[in-house]
Amino acid sequence: MSDSTDMSAKREQLVVERVPKGLLIGGRWRPAKDGREYEVEDPSTAQPLCAVPDAGAEDARAAMDAAAAAQAGWAATAPRERGEILRRAYELIVERQNDLALLMTLEMGKPVAESRGEILYAAEFFRWFAEEAVRVDGGWATAPDGNGRIWVMRQPVGPALLITPWNFPMAMGTRKIGPAVAAGCTMIVKPAHQTPLSMLALAEILGNAGLPDGVLNVLTTSRPGEVSTPLLEDPRLRKLSFTGSTGVGQKLIGQSAAGVLRTSMELGGNAPLIVCADADLEKAVEGAAIAKMRNIGEACTAANRMYVHQDLAEAFTGRLAEKLGSMVVGRGTEPDAQVGPLIDSAGLGKVDRLVRDAVGVGARVVTGGEPLSGRPGYFYPPTVLADVPADAAMLREEIFGPVAPVVTFTDDDEAIRLANDTVFGLVSYVFTESLRRGIRYAERLETGMLGLNKGVVSTPAAPFGGVKQSGIGREGGFVGIDEYLEIKYVAVDV
Ligand code: NAP
Repeated sequence: MSDSTDMSAKREQLVVERVPKGLLIGGRWRPAKDGREYEVEDPSTAQPLCAVPDAGAEDARAAMDAAAAAQAGWAATAPRERGEILRRAYELIVERQNDLALLMTLEMGKPVAESRGEILYAAEFFRWFAEEAVRVDGGWATAPDGNGRIWVMRQPVGPALLITPWNFPMAMGTRKIGPAVAAGCTMIVKPAHQTPLSMLALAEILGNAGLPDGVLNVLTTSRPGEVSTPLLEDPRLRKLSFTGSTGVGQKLIGQSAAGVLRTSMELGGNAPLIVCADADLEKAVEGAAIAKMRNIGEACTAANRMYVHQDLAEAFTGRLAEKLGSMVVGRGTEPDAQVGPLIDSAGLGKVDRLVRDAVGVGARVVTGGEPLSGRPGYFYPPTVLADVPADAAMLREEIFGPVAPVVTFTDDDEAIRLANDTVFGLVSYVFTESLRRGIRYAERLETGMLGLNKGVVSTPAAPFGGVKQSGIGREGGFVGIDEYLEIKYVAVDV
């Protein structure tokens, strides 16, 4: 081992060692009640990184007790103080971005530069909601008959369960924790089993920033149902915010019915990316590459289906294949790596199955098309497929990997019909140089968000969310805090 390899390995070990490996309940780090632990894996080596507690039902009840006990005091804490805690946490995240980025890469796989991008994006949610904490307003009106007054106030919903996915281990957390803290809700966070370390590091930062004990409780677990079910059945829980697959979301909506919980659901996507005949080809290829390859294609916002006007299809496909095919695949810690491993063997297996299915029904491989062999970890190369037929499964299912299927269309009506032919409706992308055409697409696409000549839509300042089976509610923007507030109306006699 060379000196520099040795130093890198030591630094990796150190950032993992520094993370508190406990359940955070009522301000204390503790092991699971039954002593169980599970191993966290590095997807680039398929080797374990460390073990974390494997929470069960008893731990969930303890976390619920802590969140319920802290709720009244937290709701009564001055909004400015809540905002200042978020602001301090924002600054600490930015200060520690290098270690946090390495940690995220080790457990999730994406290249360190992308992890750093996520860390800063995640921190921005805290900065945004630090500012929103002091802007929760209400209303006052004279009743129409003049005999009374209508007073409307907004108050925290109450203890919330926040369940997050592995693909953006920190940003999907801060997008929920930020508004919950700002609104005055206490919470129990359950990160994905593959990526608990970023959330544990974030919880420690919030503690350092002054978040009182019991406001944020964290349960790491490999048995999600055992933890979520007692919480969803507990009448003290008032809110569920979930980011993950539509299938799990549907199940959780069902379980939330008993307690009539407020729910926010950020679910799966199947984003169409439409390149119109009048698109700027360079801009479209650039946007498509970003919309496809951000996060190794493991994003709910990833362009899942590329619909390209027949006049541009050949040029677009060739340029995209050139661009994606030249990307460097490697362990996320390697300085020149641009494409890391997929999250686990199930993720790799799904991408492989979808590509084989598409090729089996007639798609043509332009670049990539086979999992990388001869190395550990779950690597799949950037892949572009042309002439993908309508019955290919990847046009219906989220690919969640670096695979771009290209389909041609002849006119706008056809493109819109194809784009809307899905149960999902999270995000769409349209490339056109005509504003008039862009407006028509924006109005007719069934989508929660649209990238018009842009391959990335995410920003803490905008309302993020989907329609149809992609979700309920919005995160970020001015409306993000509303998900954590109840409206109370007081009829005043005067
Ligand atoms: P997932 O399998 O649905 O898991 C998401 C979270 O739910 C994880 O924490 C998981 O825990 C937990 N979970 C699984 N089964 C559960 C159960 N029965 N009860 C309670 N919790 C349960 O999704 P994923 O594979 O992690 O994430 C990828 C999906 O998330 C994709 O569909 C993607 O589109 C979607 N996503 C959506 C958005 C958005 O904003 N719309 C953003 C990012 C990702 P375990 O890890 O322990 O299984």
